[in-house]
Amino acid sequence: MLDKHVLKSAKWRASWVGGTKYEVRNFDGEKFTIGIDIKYCSCRLWALYGLPYEHVVCVIYAHSGDPHEFVDSCYSSTINPINGENMWVSQPNVPIILPSVYRVPIRRPKKARRREKDELENKTKWRRCNTSHTCQNYDTYGHNK
Ligand SMILES: [Zn+2]
Repeated sequence: MLDKHVLKSAKWRASWVGGTKYEVRNFDGEKFTIGIDIKYCSCRLWALYGLPYEHVVCVIYAHSGDPHEFVDSCYSSTINPINGENMWVSQPNVPIILPSVYRVPIRRPKKARRREKDELENKTKWRRCNTSHTCQNYDTYGHNK
């Protein structure tokens, strides 16, 4: 897997920028900055892979190091084996922190039209629309007077 990256690294040229920083370029004009100590490449693949890949391999060669050795040191320094879950010791004194309850307030949009400041309160109240009004005299539907 690493050898694939070693092959690919051939198209990259690393140059030392200063400190632990390097810059890799290829013939297409692509350019990435690499910080060896913080294991960061500006293409962000290093953080994703966690392993040296073509950009990094190129830099390691320029740094006159062996990428295989570098991988070993990555593993020995960053990955600590832990026991399975059944081996974990429970911690009775540790308070359980529950996630805080977050309620979204429900607000209905206002129905009434917003009035201007100098506009008076509703004086004429419309009665229900679109319904037949009952005639006051005859108490039948269909006409208003
Ligand atoms: Zn990169």
